[in-house]
Amino acid sequence: MRAAVLTAPHAPLVIDDVETAATLRPNEVRVRTAAVGLCHSDLHVIDGLVARPMPVVLGHEASGTVAEVGSGVTDVSVGDHVVACFVVYCGQCRMCRAGRPAMCQDRTATMRGVDDEPRLSLGGREVHQWTNIAGFAEELVLHRNAVTVIDERMPLDLAAMLGCAVATGVGSAQTVARVAPGDHVVVIGCGGVGLNVSQGAALAGAATVIAVDRSDEKLALARERFGATHAVNTASDPDAVARILELTDGGADHSFEAVGLPGLVGLALDVTARGGSVWAVGVFGDAAEVTIPAAHLHAGKGVHGVRAGSLVPARDLPALVASYLDGRLELEALVGRRLPLERINEGVADLHAGTGARTLVVF
Ligand SMILES: [Zn+2]
Ligand SMILES: [Zn+2]
Repeated sequence: MRAAVLTAPHAPLVIDDVETAATLRPNEVRVRTAAVGLCHSDLHVIDGLVARPMPVVLGHEASGTVAEVGSGVTDVSVGDHVVACFVVYCGQCRMCRAGRPAMCQDRTATMRGVDDEPRLSLGGREVHQWTNIAGFAEELVLHRNAVTVIDERMPLDLAAMLGCAVATGVGSAQTVARVAPGDHVVVIGCGGVGLNVSQGAALAGAATVIAVDRSDEKLALARERFGATHAVNTASDPDAVARILELTDGGADHSFEAVGLPGLVGLALDVTARGGSVWAVGVFGDAAEVTIPAAHLHAGKGVHGVRAGSLVPARDLPALVASYLDGRLELEALVGRRLPLERINEGVADLHAGTGARTLVVF
């Protein structure tokens, strides 16, 4: 099957004929890919900010149709429509038993062993599956807990984005921060995740949702389609902080950093009210360090890390599908453009340029 392979940081992705394991393990499924989104955390690996073994197939928000199931899989069937999501959980560890699969402590339990035949290979050499998904490929061989069966009425291309951008964004606002009716919310960064934080906060009843970005195009999208009540451009407005403090009557109850730049955690603290919370949603580079003025702590502000919006796939992904089918969840406007796999490097260029919302590779 064809897949886009990364062989070294900064190299272009190469479309190659990658072999998938011929025989499934009892707990595995084979999925024919329908679509996969390009996400900034894929770019982190391409840019060398996040080090991973190579060669590797990136892509961690995918959708598709189940083509085969292992002998031990009883609750997924051939023909099912699924979302493949990077929250691949063992189901056995302390966090999984407590209903917190996004915090799973034993990811190796969902991978093949080092001495086993690899799920993906090229010329006899193992090709790594990033996040246990490797979505930039025509076919996915996955642990059963990497997939969630969804309603067949859900358009499969749009479903791909549920696995990362939507789950992380909406989950950060609703499950993690528990944004409440009347809250003042600031969302820094209006990419795929940030737009969904905005949408999640608006759906939760926030009184004010202030979108913050350096792109007027993205800010317009946040206001017109994703529930933001105000937009502030930090590139063109030298008084951005003062303006946000005014709009929020002294600062936000919840500020979300949805980019992954340490300095923006500082900006989030500056626009947060006393006693409020900063939620670090963006994925930071391996070497990133966040330094904050301690006075913010004395002001009762908290800084919290967020992992995958604390997603519980089996609970949250079908709920997001239902929200879309009911007309409450915006997804179409998230899509910048759709590309075939052969043109995936144009999608990587889109990520570098920071234009549009999500680029989807469709099969
Ligand atoms: Zn992602
Ligand atoms: Zn676990």
